[in-house]
Amino acid sequence: MMDSVAVNLAYIVAAALFVFGLKMLGSPATARRGNALSAAGMLIAVVVTLLSKGILEWHWIAVAMLVGAVIGALAARLVAMTSMPEMVALFNGTGGAASLLVGWAALYGDGSTFTAITVTLSVLIGGVTLSGSILAWGKLSEAFGSRAVVFGAQRFVNGLILVGLLAAGVLFVMQPAPDSPVFFVILGLALLLGVMAVLPIGGADMPVVISLLNSYSGLAACAAGFAINNNILIVSGSLVGAAGIILTNIMCKAMNRSLANVLFSGFGAVATASKVEGEVKPINAEDAYLILEAASSVTFVPGYGMAVAQAQHAVHELGELLEGNGCEVTFAIHPVAGRMPGHMNVLLAEASVPYDQLVEMEDINRRMETVDVAVVIGANDVVNPAARQDEGSPIYGMPIINVDHARTVFVLKRSMASGFAGVDNPLFFGDNTRMLFGDAKASIMGMVAQFKD
Ligand code: NDP
Repeated sequence: MMDSVAVNLAYIVAAALFVFGLKMLGSPATARRGNALSAAGMLIAVVVTLLSKGILEWHWIAVAMLVGAVIGALAARLVAMTSMPEMVALFNGTGGAASLLVGWAALYGDGSTFTAITVTLSVLIGGVTLSGSILAWGKLSEAFGSRAVVFGAQRFVNGLILVGLLAAGVLFVMQPAPDSPVFFVILGLALLLGVMAVLPIGGADMPVVISLLNSYSGLAACAAGFAINNNILIVSGSLVGAAGIILTNIMCKAMNRSLANVLFSGFGAVATASKVEGEVKPINAEDAYLILEAASSVTFVPGYGMAVAQAQHAVHELGELLEGNGCEVTFAIHPVAGRMPGHMNVLLAEASVPYDQLVEMEDINRRMETVDVAVVIGANDVVNPAARQDEGSPIYGMPIINVDHARTVFVLKRSMASGFAGVDNPLFFGDNTRMLFGDAKASIMGMVAQFKD
């Protein structure tokens, strides 16, 4: 067993690694090292906790690490990049479940009022995170449909659940016991609240709920840390909680919505979008090449379809050919493009696209009129001008990348289908828009082939 000074010193080292790791995640150039640093911090925290409490011997820790590493490596290799958001949702859920179980187990220790309060909080927040994340996973993977579900008495029912939770919480704190029926009432109501909280969120609002659940999983861990009096769990839980809420705020700003509006209004529930009609002008790779070849500035706008097509390497190659041709090349990234925060940045970094070519939405919008060609690669909602023009549209008010202001727009997608939010897109009928139908990777390879001819 280790003495408590050595344990707390190790925890301080772990906490410092978390903080520096988080800081480094802020830039694509240092993100990988930041991830490794935080993982090292977590290894120290877990090993020191298990050894200091005499929970496991060294060899069992090694066996558990091996099993965990194999599962982690398999998941990292086998789960497609496009399914990462679903995986993140499930990770949030398991985080909530773990905190719930740790809190529950703490009841078998001392029966003090403080422990009872922290256990109640960890079970409550952990339960909400668990069931909410499972529902979010279902909506993201479309296993349960991605729509917002809104019904008349929703707020009333939620209010009743909250009152029930408050009453049960007070009763439980007065007489805490691991087998108390009130404990199971709290557990059941928390799971129900998680479902009720995520039900009215859908469509383009899903990024917010994912980062919010991430924040909840941190808060649940923090509460569990207080329940078992473990400093590093409190620190890491607070960091996740704070990081998640900052990200939630960024996502809300990116969609020009308040958190309350996202959580309670039900995406698209009252919207009546105008029907979009007009003439579509298709183009083929050869004609697209001729326009690109003459362009002096090109902006690529990637979206979820680039991830599906795995077109990032081909896009990078096309970008290099254009630069070689004397063209200024930029990649404009919308904060909610794809299906998870930073989705496009990760893909472009994987394809070694230089970071200085990435530009943010505000920057590119300021000079979009000067862009010769905006090439939209499998993006749809994040370039939909209905968000600017159509007050009845469910995405009205969401800032978009104004590709329609560029001199020419190429839209690379397979059909006229709508994007995640299920909203028609007038961009496809614009005078300056040319639709390059087909798989994005194949379309880009087609243009690359023309350049090389
Ligand atoms: P969208 O979902 O709006 O559109 C993606 C488009 O890609 C589709 O219209 C599809 O059209 C096209 N596509 C799919 N596969 C291919 C392919 N192989 N080749 C070419 N095109 C393809 O994506 P955006 O990135 O524009 O917007 C993201 C949406 O997801 C927003 O509504 C956002 O709110 C939401 N969201 C974002 C999250 C985040 O954190 N970033 C999390 C959860 C949701 P077609 O089928 O015709 O090819």
